[in-house]
Amino acid sequence: MDDEALEEKKKIDEIIDTVKTYHPDADCAIIEKAYLFAKDAHNGQKRLSGEDYINHPIEIARILSTLQLDETTVSAGLLHDVVEDTSISLDDIREGFSDEIASLVDGVTKINKIKVSGEDEEQIETFRKMFVAMANDVRVIIVKLADRLHNMRTLAAMTREKQIKKSRETLDIFAPIASRLGIYRIKWELEDLAFKFLEPERYAEVVDLVASEREEREEYIRRVIEILSEKLTSENIQHDISGRPKHYYSIYQKMESGKSIDEIYDLMAIRVIVNKIDDCYATLGWAHTLWKPIPGRIKDYIAMPKANMYQSLHTTVMGPGGKPFEIQIRTVEMHMIAEYGVAAHWRYKEGKAGPDDLSEKLNGLMNEIKELEQDSEDSGDFVESVKTDLYDDEVFIFTPKGKLIELPAGATPIDFAYRIHTDVGNSCVGSKVNGKIVPLTYKLQNGDRVEILTNTSSKGPSRDWLNVVVSPQARNKIRAFFRKADKEENILKGRELFKRECKHFKTEITEEMKLRYEDFIKSRFNVASWDDLYATIGYGGVKAGYVIQRIKANFTHDFAEESDKPALVKAPTREKGASVHVQGHSDLEVTFANCCKPVPGDQIVGFTTRGRGITVHRADCVNIANTNEPNRIIAVNWITENIQSDSFTANIMIRCLDRKSLIADISTIIGNEGINISSFRTSASGEDEMRMNIEIVISSVSQVQSIVNKLGSVPSVIAVYRI
Ligand code: MN
Repeated sequence: MDDEALEEKKKIDEIIDTVKTYHPDADCAIIEKAYLFAKDAHNGQKRLSGEDYINHPIEIARILSTLQLDETTVSAGLLHDVVEDTSISLDDIREGFSDEIASLVDGVTKINKIKVSGEDEEQIETFRKMFVAMANDVRVIIVKLADRLHNMRTLAAMTREKQIKKSRETLDIFAPIASRLGIYRIKWELEDLAFKFLEPERYAEVVDLVASEREEREEYIRRVIEILSEKLTSENIQHDISGRPKHYYSIYQKMESGKSIDEIYDLMAIRVIVNKIDDCYATLGWAHTLWKPIPGRIKDYIAMPKANMYQSLHTTVMGPGGKPFEIQIRTVEMHMIAEYGVAAHWRYKEGKAGPDDLSEKLNGLMNEIKELEQDSEDSGDFVESVKTDLYDDEVFIFTPKGKLIELPAGATPIDFAYRIHTDVGNSCVGSKVNGKIVPLTYKLQNGDRVEILTNTSSKGPSRDWLNVVVSPQARNKIRAFFRKADKEENILKGRELFKRECKHFKTEITEEMKLRYEDFIKSRFNVASWDDLYATIGYGGVKAGYVIQRIKANFTHDFAEESDKPALVKAPTREKGASVHVQGHSDLEVTFANCCKPVPGDQIVGFTTRGRGITVHRADCVNIANTNEPNRIIAVNWITENIQSDSFTANIMIRCLDRKSLIADISTIIGNEGINISSFRTSASGEDEMRMNIEIVISSVSQVQSIVNKLGSVPSVIAVYRI
């Protein structure tokens, strides 16, 4: 054995000794076997620092033993890089060691394949979750944290670029995970190392600051420890008091958040470790009799443990000379949890070396946490971190460019495609997962790298996809696609109906007119465009005839000729002219023209007849317009106060599809307007179309307008117009 091998052997023996202290019955031969196996596998490999590669796994094993993890995890630590970096396979490990060790190594290997990228907080949070989700055993995460810790300790050998990248990753991903698992010991060291490499100057400043007046401060701490210790001894409280270690990164963070050095109590802090919970509260009480507590700084994490199981009493008191300092008070067990977090669970898993109740307590606490309502932010995080199976409802997938995407468990490449972009989803024709073609129904697995094959001439999604996708997003987008596709069809159908109806009305609506009517139809029918209106007509949301009728009513000038067609009905029932005043005359006999049947509200003119007084026509009557005796035209107007009691008839024609109780519906509407029906005729027209000719008695043109509008919206009515 050469010197190096001797040195390694010594380290392994130390690790085994450490494990024996907390697991006296552990089968430590497996640790030695793992060491020899790893040494052989990594033979000839060097680290960047120039030392043999095997030193790295040995250091991981050492860190794991200081966290007091079981021999299985320590062995897995020794073997953690073997599958990734050598020709050894997972099966070799399974055969040579155990399924458990192989599964831990596999977990670490998988996690190592995750390439962290992206800067935004959301992406980073997804990575954190993914790390935890991919490790089906919390011990995998702990091995990974130990791996990262040793890599950070030896980061100086790396290029500056690598140093920055690894440090950033450590702060973003690994330190928060350590924190959530309650492994503060690792969290703090990771943070301080990352801080040192990321901001060397600021780091030096903080170190200097902590070092300044150090002696003075240490002397002060010694004094308060002495005072408190004396008090506790006289009160028969067994205790162990020490100054609290300083964490440069947390001091830096506090300074960054605008706190002055005097407000950073970490610089002056002591920790009291006692045997029982009662002693914690007693110690707090005695401390407060010695020094005045600063209001708002007392925290009882014993009654209200932090989500990561941390328990302790905190108080800040005004010490001798008016200098504030912090006191943390906790039991031995609480201290163990504070330092080792979840790792403490394995430490006393077998309940042999430690207090029996701790294991129970940890289990109890974990169960309690699981049941905690998610009222605190951290509790959710912690539950997620520890109970990796809580991630069962999510799956983490990579894009070809390495962006990480979170999808519901059971997601398929189609879900993924729609998450990337609607167009990618709609033109998706196939997919590759980790380079291999898979069916679109493939259930994606954590860490899959997915590529979507698209074809721009694809006709779009299949309706079957709706049964395959699991994300609401994909489902909605597929539905939207079909709604849109159906819309195209409806537009065609609606356009055709509209055309047919125009023909029926003998109405021509030119493209120029459509342009002018666009604003009107938008507001009148609440649509975005003519196409939109056609689509609505197409699926039956509105009747083409009704649309035409509304347009004509609104743009009467465009359709003036039609409205001047000779009336189809008999003369008005009212022959007396009491409701019309002829300018310059008061006693002329007035009759209403049969050709245009004016009703109150219409623009009217008088025509002087020979021997029959004045005939009243609508101002736009063709007969008036074509007269060769314009001098016989005389101005007339409605006498509105007389109109109230007067009545006129108007004829309405309804085109409709016959249905049960249609006639009843129509008469009800007319009746509700307070209008009498003087005649009602129906006739069949076409296969199932029918016409109703209704003569109503009205007192003004606005009444006709109103009734026409109302009848137009009756179901199965195609069109209504006044004739
Ligand atoms: Mn490693």
